[in-house]
Amino acid sequence: MGQILTAPDLQYHPFRRERMHCVVAPLLDGTRLTIPIEIICGAADGPRLVVIAGVHGDELEGVRAVQMLSATIDQHRLSGTVLLIPVANMAAFVSRTRRNPLDNMDLNRVFPGRPDGTISERLAYLIVYTLLANATLVVSLHGFGALGTLMPWMEFVDIPASIRQESHAAALAFGFPDLMPLPLLPGVLITALAQCGIPAIEGEIGGMGMIDPSNWRRYVTGVIQVMRHLRMISDPPVYVADPRYWGLHWIHAPAGGLFERRFALGDHVASGQRLGFLLNPFGEEIDSVVAPCDGVVGACQMAASVHPGDPVALVWSPL
Ligand SMILES: [Zn+2]
Repeated sequence: MGQILTAPDLQYHPFRRERMHCVVAPLLDGTRLTIPIEIICGAADGPRLVVIAGVHGDELEGVRAVQMLSATIDQHRLSGTVLLIPVANMAAFVSRTRRNPLDNMDLNRVFPGRPDGTISERLAYLIVYTLLANATLVVSLHGFGALGTLMPWMEFVDIPASIRQESHAAALAFGFPDLMPLPLLPGVLITALAQCGIPAIEGEIGGMGMIDPSNWRRYVTGVIQVMRHLRMISDPPVYVADPRYWGLHWIHAPAGGLFERRFALGDHVASGQRLGFLLNPFGEEIDSVVAPCDGVVGACQMAASVHPGDPVALVWSPL
């Protein structure tokens, strides 16, 4: 199970392998919010790779992938250190929600956090400045939440700096052919890391609150490819030969209602195309949803009950 620690030792020692719980803060009920972590060190010192999942509490395929990485990594073939964070946002994980129920904040909108803030801000601060500090690379694993699903893609920051090259190279090594170069976005982990000088990539796969093996296995394979890329294991790296670059266009529901969806994941859509409509409790159409641009539907909410502003679909537009 591992010790509960307020100041975890994250140093490299040959063949070190340890599971720990890092304390974020004492809670109202007298317990403490903690983050489970596992440090795995190889025979020789080298790069430090951090793999973090469970930033959103209802995105579970990354969580399962991190667990399986723990079972897969062979310390005798490893150079450097892998730090695994299977569930970054434990309170959200327990409540099966995207947001942390203790302060109703979205952890991936408050990075790098503050040491004296709300519980999510303190959690973000501990993650960035203690667990991810000094990382050679951070791989962050996400997915759609419990209500929807998406096609796999990988994000990296698109800024004129060496961080971009290092992050982009890691994204090509990970193996997903669909890549999303993103601007700096306040509160998002890979942005906060870029501002600290740490390369990072953030993946998306699956959803529906499931742990589909065909999804988490792709995450496990991707992280192992990144370990090859960083020369943490000696097998030669393989890179995506024909990457596709896309912009992300989320479509938010203009009203609440039952959503009659007229598209499927992966469909090609044209700008202005009607993607569905919203029905009031009498079954009367009150509004509709149209594609904001030409592209491919990369994500969609599967649950038909929709609140105003829900992200009902995502269109990838070619860059
Ligand atoms: Zn997420």
